[in-house]
Amino acid sequence: MHDILICGGGVAGLSLALSLRRAFGEQLRIGLVDPVFGERESNVRTSALTAGSRNLLEAIGIWPSIAPRAQPILGMKITDSRRNDAVRPMFLAFEEPLDDGSPFAWMIQNADLVAVLEQAVADAGIDIFRSAVSRIKDQGRAIELILRDGQSRAARLVVGADGVQSRIRRACGIETVGRDYDRTAIVATLAHEEDHAGVAVQHFMPAGPFAMLPLTGRRSSIVWTEPNDEARSYLAMSDEDFVAEVDRRFGPSLGRFQLEARPAAFPLRVHIARRFTAHRVALIGDAAHLVHPLAGQGLNLGLRDVAALTGLLADPIRLGLDVGGASVLAAYERARYFDTVAMMAGTDGLHRLFANDSGPLRALRDLGLGVVNRLPRLKRTLVREAAGLAGDVPALLRGRLP
Ligand SMILES: Cc1cc2nc3c(=O)[nH]c(=O)nc-3n(C[C@H](O)[C@H](O)[C@H](O)COP(=O)(O)OP(=O)(O)OC[C@H]3O[C@@H](n4cnc5c(N)ncnc54)[C@H](O)[C@@H]3O)c2cc1C
Repeated sequence: MHDILICGGGVAGLSLALSLRRAFGEQLRIGLVDPVFGERESNVRTSALTAGSRNLLEAIGIWPSIAPRAQPILGMKITDSRRNDAVRPMFLAFEEPLDDGSPFAWMIQNADLVAVLEQAVADAGIDIFRSAVSRIKDQGRAIELILRDGQSRAARLVVGADGVQSRIRRACGIETVGRDYDRTAIVATLAHEEDHAGVAVQHFMPAGPFAMLPLTGRRSSIVWTEPNDEARSYLAMSDEDFVAEVDRRFGPSLGRFQLEARPAAFPLRVHIARRFTAHRVALIGDAAHLVHPLAGQGLNLGLRDVAALTGLLADPIRLGLDVGGASVLAAYERARYFDTVAMMAGTDGLHRLFANDSGPLRALRDLGLGVVNRLPRLKRTLVREAAGLAGDVPALLRGRLP
């Protein structure tokens, strides 16, 4: 019998396994189930890691392995324009680091982060089951996971970290509320001639944001949102035509672009599980919530779940109490639901605000951005908020084990 079984080894599941091992040592029997552990196909996904997420990776001992592949974001420029506008006037610019002088975020390639986490999880002696969960059985004092390879495993607490289509969430009968945006994010990695100087650029266009996000070296990742049909036609283009479309949106400041790999498509949706817990089950990461990528917060929200759950398990584990008990789960739900709803409302609101091309609304939002730009104290508050360091911050997000 395990104390905790984690279903899903994406960034959220792997980080939770490692956080629990680092915080509570080998007294806690932890297992992780994922059919593609150690055998993942490489992909173009990238993420902006907030300072809070970086602190967590530091506390669990893997930041030194990530740092050489993480590009600090030293500035951010936001414009509001249409595709064919000759000039993209800047309405909001952030250059302030955090109070201690460190950057407020870093760009990483998800595949690099997952590879480092998988290695650390394997080295930490966590039990790994390379299979998929197909069913679960409630045994009262434990939950049994029935795996596709015929094995079954039981634990006092099961964590569903199995992504958007979460099998654990469905098996618990937890519904989601949300909607499709009818938009697709086109993601690609580009090499370019000029240095990006660590500056991230986001052009808000009527179809959605077009972001150029700095990676290490003279490389950037684009996250470019279009209605589904148009996205399909951009994805079908030759490399040259695709790069020409990027040029039209971004302009010449980084010199000539070259595609590093074919672009990939991610249909955009927002959803939240009606509950984050069930009997002896907690949901984390995309299994619990999916947000629009325009604020770069999805993976960071998952790491906030990890920090909250690890912190809330400290007392029960040290006192020898039931780790899957109702009080731990109720505290987790309370800690994470409101924060998640607030983030979803924020990113959904931004999407609605910028996806509207009406003249008066455009003028109003540009005025709003311009006002924020001229208020350094408000900007500093926004930077702390975006860095994941505002409000009641669990120990791991401050760089400490609970
Ligand atoms: C275009 C785009 C850009 C983004 N940019 C950012 C950004 O800048 N910053 C940010 O913070 N976030 C960003 N995100 C969001 C971020 O990528 C996700 O929130 C994050 O990767 C989710 O991690 P996860 O571990 O919860 O889920 P996943 O990465 O989906 O992992 C789920 C894991 O569960 C496993 N699994 C599935 N089913 C089973 C099963 N039945 N049994 C066992 N295992 C199973 C899978 O194999 C997988 O390994 C972006 C998303 C998109 C689409």
